[in-house]
Amino acid sequence: MSKRKNFSTKRMAILNTICSTDCHPSAKWVYNNLKEKYPDLSLGTVYRNISLFKEEGVVNAVANVNGEERIDGITEPHSHFICTKCGSIYDILNQELTALDSVLTDEGFHIESKSITYYGKCNKCS
Ligand SMILES: [Zn+2]
Ligand SMILES: [Zn+2]
Repeated sequence: MSKRKNFSTKRMAILNTICSTDCHPSAKWVYNNLKEKYPDLSLGTVYRNISLFKEEGVVNAVANVNGEERIDGITEPHSHFICTKCGSIYDILNQELTALDSVLTDEGFHIESKSITYYGKCNKCS
C-alpha cells in the first residue's frame, strides 16, 4: 500500500513539474528537477509517466528539439515559437483569426483546433 502511495506521489510530482513551468520541459529536465527530492526516481519512470499523461490528455508533446521530446502542460490549442539556436519554446497564446483560417472557413471547412509552430531565432538569440 505504501509503495502504491509512493508511486502516485511521484506521479503527481512529475505532473506538477510539467505544469508549473512554461519552458516546455523534456523528460530529462523533469528528472533533473526531481531527482534531489526523489533520489530513487529513475529517468525511465519519468518517461513512462509522461507517455501515460499524453494518453490521458493531461499533457501534450510539442516537438522534438535536439532529439528530445518536449512536453507542454497547457493542453488548450496554442501555437509555439521554437528557437533553433537555444532550443527555447515560447507559447503564442494569441489565437487571432488569420487569413488562412478565413480561406478555410470560406470554403466550408470547420476548424476545431489549430497549432502553428514557428521556427527561428528568439529575441535573446537574434
Ligand atoms: Zn534562443
Ligand atoms: Zn505551449
